[in-house]
Amino acid sequence: MTPPRIDLHTHSRASDGTDSPRGVLEAAAAAGLDVVALTDHDTTAGWAEAAEAVAVTRVALVRGTEISTRVRTEGGSISVHLLSYLHAPDDEVLRAECDRTRTDRLSRARRMTDLLAEDFPVTWDDVVAQTGDGATVGRPHLADALVAAGVVGSRDEAFATVLHPGARYYVPHYAPDTVDAVRAVLGAGGVPVMAHPGAGARGRTVSEATIADLAAAGLAGLEVDHRDHDAETRDRLRGLTAELGLLATGSSDYHGTGKLNRIGENTTAPEALAQIEERGRLDVIRP
Ligand code: AMP
Ligand code: ZN
Ligand code: FE
Ligand code: FE
Repeated sequence: MTPPRIDLHTHSRASDGTDSPRGVLEAAAAAGLDVVALTDHDTTAGWAEAAEAVAVTRVALVRGTEISTRVRTEGGSISVHLLSYLHAPDDEVLRAECDRTRTDRLSRARRMTDLLAEDFPVTWDDVVAQTGDGATVGRPHLADALVAAGVVGSRDEAFATVLHPGARYYVPHYAPDTVDAVRAVLGAGGVPVMAHPGAGARGRTVSEATIADLAAAGLAGLEVDHRDHDAETRDRLRGLTAELGLLATGSSDYHGTGKLNRIGENTTAPEALAQIEERGRLDVIRP
């Protein structure tokens, strides 16, 4: 028997992916995956539709969320994406944090749109037209509006030119402190894993000392195998998981047609998923 193929990080139209939640499971099936985690930004809105697609697609579902957080350092704050797996969606503390982030993401997107509108033919209606109903709004939706307006050719080009943190159109959004978020995830019965810890192209990355602090607070794992990590970074992070007693995961961070990431391009060992399921409050939904 070949081992199951497991991808623990994907996005749907519930945030900034381009597939429906069901479409993510269909894409997983087409790629020969056995298990997929749906981890939309700061929301659980896609869980129900994805769960319904398990029986038809024969792909098992890990319910998750990618939580926007921030580590405050002397040199400014660093954005950290924290994956939470198998947490109770109705936990009040975690839900309130995600609600607050989503609400602030909305006003932030409006402010960024106002700034962009000073120089480009783009309106808030154009951004809304690119955003799924009730979806967590993010820069990718602004990028899509700019593409639709003919300002840039792709999401990538939008990020490289006008949406990156150094651009004059960039506005930050609220995000909880990373240690607080780790505790909130644990309080909700979830399993916290740091997403793409070494993805330097997105901005500053956290130090190994910070990762050790997060591990002491209960962080369960690091996403080691991710396309934003070169071989050297993966080796270093894998060493760190061994040193700190953390799980190592691997994932695609699939966003549909919004990014080059192919679903299943990186995978997680079945032993790591078994640990996650053992620690998580919810079960993996199996066909
Ligand atoms: P935000 O969370 O609104 O600040 O937007 C960041 C999100 O944009 C990340 O989580 C990625 O999913 C996405 N992203 C970052 N860089 C790119 C890129 N070059 N092309 C497409 N999507 C990107
Ligand atoms: Zn995303
Ligand atoms: Fe991320
Ligand atoms: Fe992601």
